[in-house]
Amino acid sequence: MRILVTGGCGFIGSALVLHLVGTLGHEVLTLDALTYAANPVSLAPLADDPRHRLVEADICDAGAVQAAFAAFAPQAVMHLAAESHVDRSISEPGAFVRTNVIGTQVMLEAARAHYESLSGPDRRAFRFLHVSTDEVYGSLPPGGFFTEASRYDPRSPYSASKAASDHLARAWHETYGLPVLVTNCSNNYGPRHFPEKLIPLMILNALEGWPLPVYGDGLNERDWIHVEDHARGLVAVLERGRVGETYLLGGRAVRSNLAVVEALCAACDVLRPAGAPHARLITFVADRPGHDRRYAIDPGKAQAELGWAPEKRFEAALAETVGWYLDNAAWWRPIREGRYKGERLGLGAAP
Ligand code: NAD
Repeated sequence: MRILVTGGCGFIGSALVLHLVGTLGHEVLTLDALTYAANPVSLAPLADDPRHRLVEADICDAGAVQAAFAAFAPQAVMHLAAESHVDRSISEPGAFVRTNVIGTQVMLEAARAHYESLSGPDRRAFRFLHVSTDEVYGSLPPGGFFTEASRYDPRSPYSASKAASDHLARAWHETYGLPVLVTNCSNNYGPRHFPEKLIPLMILNALEGWPLPVYGDGLNERDWIHVEDHARGLVAVLERGRVGETYLLGGRAVRSNLAVVEALCAACDVLRPAGAPHARLITFVADRPGHDRRYAIDPGKAQAELGWAPEKRFEAALAETVGWYLDNAAWWRPIREGRYKGERLGLGAAP
């Protein structure tokens, strides 16, 4: 199958492209603007693979997007390209509206034109999978879970821009008949995660002896899914999901931020003993404005309809992730030291 993947040089996109090409043998065109969040090194295992091609293009550039559709004639689109970091959305919301809203509209329009040019089995098989986040649903009360019926209540510029993109994707299905599927997933972790996000930031700060800045009281809860479980879930939705439907994907691993940091400190204590426990580095810092208290997913619909389930167990897979960062300093050190894209990351960033 020929699949056009946007954002394939990012964290989830690269795991997905490696799975689609390396494991499943699909042909993939990765369309990515190579923003600060991209790391093409993540796709190095496919460097000589004729089934993969990388096109550097902005999803807001309609001409470039249309050219990619014309050249590749995809049988499916998996749309992941986005600005994805909540803290950046608070300081630079414009970039989030541009890429996540306008960029999604450009992708939908190009896909619609392409879909309308298809006939027969190609037309019947075509799918546009829009990849989104559970953050569009806002904050849950204690013990609650999101389902596909949850009300949209985005509270950050990031989640508001993703909510807008979800509505556009559904509108292109209802209005134009584009065969759209939408997924909303919980927080991902795993290898090749850009070190401004909670888990890689804390792992690298712990390994380098820096403070581990935890927002507020550390009791905000997130539902963690391993990025490879997410990639398999996206493929399950693409292959077996019902057109027009939404599927929630989550890892059934709800943990407080503090519990996550304590677990990765414990893994660092085993894999890189430092004399004193790494947890001594935990430092509580002022809370993020509008910080949602709890996200948690009920993935029951995806499990029942698609036969998909998260396989990784959180604490064990988190320790594997710490091991990956220990073994792959060549991937993250240029980013930490600002030798990559010229931006030095603050060591005090957060989830
Ligand atoms: P990421 O920030 O790691 O990667 C985003 C990728 O998109 C990068 O390669 C970047 O270069 C590319 N990109 C950004 N703007 C672009 C543009 N204008 N044109 C083309 N490419 C552009 O993000 P991620 O964490 O891999 O998330 C991927 C998708 O999954 C996003 O849509 C995000 O909203 C969604 N999601 C993420 C999580 C999570 O925990 N990370 C959870 C649920 C859903």
